[in-house]
Amino acid sequence: MICTTLRKDDECVFMTLRGCTYNEGKCMPIVEQCNGCKRVGKYDIGTFCKAVPDPSLKWKNSNCNLATHTKVADDSKKKKKINPIKASKRR
Ligand code: SF4
Repeated sequence: MICTTLRKDDECVFMTLRGCTYNEGKCMPIVEQCNGCKRVGKYDIGTFCKAVPDPSLKWKNSNCNLATHTKVADDSKKKKKINPIKASKRR
């Protein structure tokens, strides 16, 4: 449903006919780590994430999994661990 509180005119899953159903009835502003993300939206009342109602929770334990500005480490270049016992049997 279309938000009528903070992120006016944006689609939001927490919006209902009775108002915003998220914690305390409103979204939380972005956190410092969000700067540079394409999901950041600027509104009259502040800067909010278009995908997450509380960005601080997304960054609490690790990087936000929806962030567009962080790169995931490429594991394909890492050397695979080789079990020495299995390797000796292959020879
Ligand atoms: S998607 Fe993640 S990093 Fe991007 S603005 Fe939202 S909470 Fe911040």
